[in-house]
Amino acid sequence: MRSIRRGDTGPAVSEIRSILVSLELLTDPEPDLFDERLENAVRAFQQSRGLGVDGMVGDETWRALDGARWRLGSRMLFHSVPDALTGEDVRSLQERMLEMGYDSGRPDSIYGARTARAVAQFQREVGLTPDGSFGPQTMKALRRLGRKVVGGRPQWLREAEAFRQSGPNLVGKTIVIDPGHGGGDDAGVVVPDGPLRWTEADLVFDLAARLEGRLAAAGMRVHLTRGPQPAEAMSGAERAALANSLGADLLISLHLDGQESAAAEGVATYHYGTGSGLSSTVGERLANLVQREIVVRTGMHDCRTHAKTWDLLRLTRMPTVRVDLGYLTSPADRERLINPMFREQIVEAILAAVQRMYFPVERDVPTGSIDVRQLRMALADRT
Ligand SMILES: [Zn+2]
Repeated sequence: MRSIRRGDTGPAVSEIRSILVSLELLTDPEPDLFDERLENAVRAFQQSRGLGVDGMVGDETWRALDGARWRLGSRMLFHSVPDALTGEDVRSLQERMLEMGYDSGRPDSIYGARTARAVAQFQREVGLTPDGSFGPQTMKALRRLGRKVVGGRPQWLREAEAFRQSGPNLVGKTIVIDPGHGGGDDAGVVVPDGPLRWTEADLVFDLAARLEGRLAAAGMRVHLTRGPQPAEAMSGAERAALANSLGADLLISLHLDGQESAAAEGVATYHYGTGSGLSSTVGERLANLVQREIVVRTGMHDCRTHAKTWDLLRLTRMPTVRVDLGYLTSPADRERLINPMFREQIVEAILAAVQRMYFPVERDVPTGSIDVRQLRMALADRT
């Protein structure tokens, strides 16, 4: 759908207003006009949910708003197939389950099989029929327990532990490289430059193909989410589902950025996390490594790492990062990105970051100075 934005009127605007009033982000349900105060409330909402903050209501913001209506206990929750129940109440439940040590998966607001299993386990332990659905009885049992925090965030601790146990070796690990955009008319950021037309989709595919070769040479199983010219555009959720079905150990998504101002430049890396402090510790670590290696090796402007709840980051079951490798709209970044030698440098940096994930060498080799061949030899020695 087209984004609903400042200046719009109509029933959809009234609906957005009433949800934001119920969330106490706005005080006046009238008028049904998207005015400045409404825009500020939308921004505050987006910020609180880790969404891109643009003050407009597009698909992703609308889904989050729609789900935000539900308070835990205000409806029956169960594992519904094929259309899973989603909403803020599901997320509250998932966070409670995690706090109590039940493995309900990432708090993704979707009542899936894993959440139902965690609820069933909880029900069994408190003496209720373990049917995996969340109704008044289970709510009562949950209330009775109060907020008994077991310490840490079990999901992230488990993810870190699983990662640690997988061993310091790239060989046999599965990595999915996701070149952003491509397919249909989704070329991402496009810059017409004289007779040449640079697109984000083509440049990130080139980077992905180079990275594929290097990672495969290091012994990893590598999959790309798309080819150079896919027929159909793919959503973040579809890309996440593909990586999940491959049982990948890591996912790295490659994008470029664009902005009206030519002054915006630099590299930024994103991992899963919410404003409330929940984040994927392994994903965050990978994001920091990727960001650091690229900044140190290329000297690109450091736009740092950020926690986001984008579909691709939220719905993947493995540590996932998305890296925006510079602004195609910045003359300085573009000049470098269209140079194949520079793209090779970026690939080298990402490869080193992946190596470091499995083989922590921070203590003996400073970031940026590591020669990937030396590292590979060191790895071979250890195994
Ligand atoms: Zn992009």
